[in-house]
Amino acid sequence: MKEALSQDRREELQRIARVDVTVSAPALVQARTRLGTAALTRLVRLEIGELRRQVLGGGEAGTLDALVEAVKRRVGAVLATRARRVINATGVVLHTNLGRAPLSEQVAAEMAASCAGYLSIEIDLSTGRRGPRGAFAETALAQLSSADDALVVNNNAAAVLLVLTALAKGRGVIVSRGELVEIGGSFRVPDVLARSGAKMIEVGTTNRTTLEDYSRVFDDPNHDVAVILRVHQGNFRQVGFVERPPLPKLAALAHERGVLLVKDLGGGALLDMTSWGLPGEPTPELCVKAGADVVCFSGDKVLGGPQAGILVGASEWIDRARRDPLARALRLGRLPLVALESVLDAYLRQDYAAVPALEALRRPPEEVRQRAEKWAEQLQARGLAATVVELPAAVGAGALAEVSLPSFAVQLQVHNAENFAAALRTAEPPVLARIRDDALLFDGRSVLDGEDAPLIEAIVAAQVATSEA
Ligand SMILES: *Cc1c(COP(=O)(O)O)cnc(C)c1O
Repeated sequence: MKEALSQDRREELQRIARVDVTVSAPALVQARTRLGTAALTRLVRLEIGELRRQVLGGGEAGTLDALVEAVKRRVGAVLATRARRVINATGVVLHTNLGRAPLSEQVAAEMAASCAGYLSIEIDLSTGRRGPRGAFAETALAQLSSADDALVVNNNAAAVLLVLTALAKGRGVIVSRGELVEIGGSFRVPDVLARSGAKMIEVGTTNRTTLEDYSRVFDDPNHDVAVILRVHQGNFRQVGFVERPPLPKLAALAHERGVLLVKDLGGGALLDMTSWGLPGEPTPELCVKAGADVVCFSGDKVLGGPQAGILVGASEWIDRARRDPLARALRLGRLPLVALESVLDAYLRQDYAAVPALEALRRPPEEVRQRAEKWAEQLQARGLAATVVELPAAVGAGALAEVSLPSFAVQLQVHNAENFAAALRTAEPPVLARIRDDALLFDGRSVLDGEDAPLIEAIVAAQVATSEA
């Protein structure tokens, strides 16, 4: 039975401001322009509903000003969920939570120019006939990895799922127990294998798998092997008593037995980065030359492009993947495709300066130090306690796990690091930094060219905001 409302509660409920009065409060003019009246009204209703529940529970109606402030907080929370440009001062160059590889101004301009209208994405302009989607990207990728053919899909997880489905559905896939790994974001090799419809045949142990472990599978007539899968150990490292057969030996075994060798490479550096002091991550080209029939890798890891999954290899197998119905479901959107083509164009011209991720990765430590020193001077001039510290930065995105890049950061001693970091996240533009002990660290490696001045202004603004609080 519903209890009758006491006179006192009824009066208190009537003290709550009306929806229309709140929506048209002068303090919400900006929110109204930004969100539109309908969306703002919805948030006001939610807040008033909450307030009514509190009043019924014995609380007070409060003032219109307090209500307006609460609505403003809701508006801020809604707007903060929207993906927007931020400054990455974390030192992790390919930060999965920050969209991985940053794209250049030139790529962004080409995207704007192409995507603001219609696009000749599936029309061959020389003949006027229907043409294959992504043809330029695929030709470029085949060339850059010395492969016969290439295919682009939504991301590398999709590439692996597609290749296993197209080449091994209902049949066996041999994989080392040392490679039954989780890449992150719930991409687990055994789960992807299961979803492809292939049957996983585990061999070896966590730390050691020999060529004989693989070859013994073929002695068992119960196994109908289609593929040997090799997964790159990109986001972790095994040391000590470990063994895996080299890729050329494994590929030779596969071909001797009439099955395919598929390599999930993960990151896919299109060039050898050892000359930049970065360790020799195997390139797709090296994997193809070592005998892999299909190599899968990401567009937005060390390649430095947009989110994409890339398959390169022999035409027969790539084409089988292309014709699989799953390929249509996993295809790349037109925005990332335009971006990918623009980035690959830069690779073909060997214009690596046009790939910001590569620029950040290969920036010499001395240059990073000078940059951090300049920031420290500018911050000191504004009255902030900034010093320069040496520390390791990271490649990120599960790529080159064993590598930490020498780097330098500005260390800022603050009263409350969590509060300061929160103020930085709501600065214009938002800044993401690392916290260590009671200090904030702004790494000179991952901040892009042209972001120095906005970074300094955001730090100063955060200082002002947190000292007022
Ligand atoms: C990163 C990675 C993936 C997943 O690639 P996404 O592009 O993030 O989908 C799969 N396999 C390996 C080995 C990876 O490193």
